[in-house]
Amino acid sequence: MGTIPLSSPHFAGNEVAYVTQCIETGWVAGGAFIEDFEERVSSFLGKKRAVATASGTAALHVTLRVIGIEPGDEVIIPTLTFVAPSNAIRYVGAQPVFMDVDPVYWQIDVEKLSDFFKEECRPSNRGLLNRSTGRPVKAVIAVDLMGHPVDMDSIVELCRQYDVVVVEDAAESLGALYRGKKVGALADVACLSFNGNKVITSGAGGMVVTDNEVWADRVKYFIDQAKDDPAEYYHGEIGYNYRITNVHAAIGLAQMEKLHDHVAAKRSLAAYYNKGFTGIEGITPQGEADWAKSIFWLYTVLVDPDLCGTDRRRLMVALQNAGIQTRPLWVPNHLLPAHNQCQAYRITIADRIHQKGLSLPSSVGITEDERAFVVEQVVRAVGG
Ligand SMILES: *Cc1c(COP(=O)(O)O)cnc(C)c1O
Repeated sequence: MGTIPLSSPHFAGNEVAYVTQCIETGWVAGGAFIEDFEERVSSFLGKKRAVATASGTAALHVTLRVIGIEPGDEVIIPTLTFVAPSNAIRYVGAQPVFMDVDPVYWQIDVEKLSDFFKEECRPSNRGLLNRSTGRPVKAVIAVDLMGHPVDMDSIVELCRQYDVVVVEDAAESLGALYRGKKVGALADVACLSFNGNKVITSGAGGMVVTDNEVWADRVKYFIDQAKDDPAEYYHGEIGYNYRITNVHAAIGLAQMEKLHDHVAAKRSLAAYYNKGFTGIEGITPQGEADWAKSIFWLYTVLVDPDLCGTDRRRLMVALQNAGIQTRPLWVPNHLLPAHNQCQAYRITIADRIHQKGLSLPSSVGITEDERAFVVEQVVRAVGG
């Protein structure tokens, strides 16, 4: 057995056939796969529009621009996340306000969010204002973290009350369900990623999904250099080169055709791991709420040094030595040099989850021998 990777892409469908078609027809930049890919995703999610982009980060950036986030505005975001959405907030000149997460599912803490609105904000003719900074609070980016949905009904209800836009960052969770509804279809607008380590990949790519036709048209406009008159090269605003290529869309479409299989494989791996770690003191997997169907994007456990014979760092080294690749969770974004001057609201849980969290091999194509070896090595390392 070679090294067992954390997560490698899985190609078992039409990828080669579709990419070959791009090369043979010469349609490698623009082309028909882009619309096919968008159509496949929008119909899967039951949304009117999907616009493909060069990356998930690009999707977030252009979404914030299109929903009207301006320099000096504030956007609320969970601190425990990949850094992309925090950076996107800064790209448009806005400031993140970092929220804590809940201790079991690790999603944005809705109670603290509610307290923040109630206690830290006040209504004004410029919209909701953060009392301590005086800045308008315009949006929440709800990140469906590690394949598990946020409690979106509560978030949407709360944000409606305060007239705040909800952006769903579903980059890690396409295929998951929230109260039977599809993740990526739960808020005013959603951003997806098809980066190499996501549940399905286009190599690189992202998507903006929404029922709002005006927003979708504006996204299309901005990702293609804001061309008002393509023939005359007249650009009405500062746009971006954020288009996806036909080659990437071809791979994405082929992967989208297999999403169901990928999700099934991830869920079955999670069930196997859960069983293997049952009764092992100090190893606690990310929870799955009874209202959720997680895709377990990266299967992650908390390692509690007070309860087992090791901590997250030492377990990582032990598994590395056994040829098993693992990964810690992201450093809470409010602690990163680029963002640590921004407001962090009553954060107590996220730091602890970061210190204890370790993601285990989660590839769609992991073999039965490999997953058994992972459980065996974890159990051995913690002295179970
Ligand atoms: C992966 C990811 C993104 C976007 O990633 P790209 O690599 O730019 O496609 C955005 N948000 C979250 C939470 C992610 O995990």
